[in-house]
Amino acid sequence: SQPLRVPALSLVVLVGVAGSGKSTFAARHFRPTQVVSSDGCRALVADDPRDQSATGAAFEVAHLVTRHRLANGLLTVLDATSVEPAARRPLLELAREHDVPAVAIVLDLPEELCARRAAERPDRAVAAAVVHRQHMELRAGLHGLRAEGFAAVHVLRTEAEAAGTAVDLVG
Ligand code: ATP
Ligand code: MG
Repeated sequence: SQPLRVPALSLVVLVGVAGSGKSTFAARHFRPTQVVSSDGCRALVADDPRDQSATGAAFEVAHLVTRHRLANGLLTVLDATSVEPAARRPLLELAREHDVPAVAIVLDLPEELCARRAAERPDRAVAAAVVHRQHMELRAGLHGLRAEGFAAVHVLRTEAEAAGTAVDLVG
């Protein structure tokens, strides 16, 4: 399939339910320092990427790091589910503040596949009911992403597409 063309200075927001392959995709296509993840920030503030009570602090850190990276002119990839508009809004605001395009890469893979992978996660299993709720949120918001302010929206729908699509940084 065609490579995704992503501006070399942009805020890339990965959007996908637990188990959709966001962290795998980020690790394959971006350098570790370019990726800001909710799990990583939870680990930074709570020593435990599973500690849900650390979620508020973790996102505070994620947004702060993102703000500084964009101010420094550095491509940044946000690795969190971001299935809810309320999760995307502060990211779109940061991109706008720094006059950087926000690009959504949506991993809209079959719910059953994601649920199976999420349940099998050795470090942090996620229940099928949680994946289901996230999937409903994702589908409800998918068509509104451009209107929210994303400059580009790329949707990957199959395992083959997610694994076989390259990312070209342009400009
Ligand atoms: P979470 O929101 O829970 O962090 P995630 O979206 O980051 O989930 P990953 O951890 O990247 O998802 O992937 C979940 C599981 O699926 C992992 O075991 C990973 O190895 C597997 N996986 C991810 N992408 C692919 C792929 N393209 N082909 C096969 N397996 C994959
Ligand atoms: Mg992940």
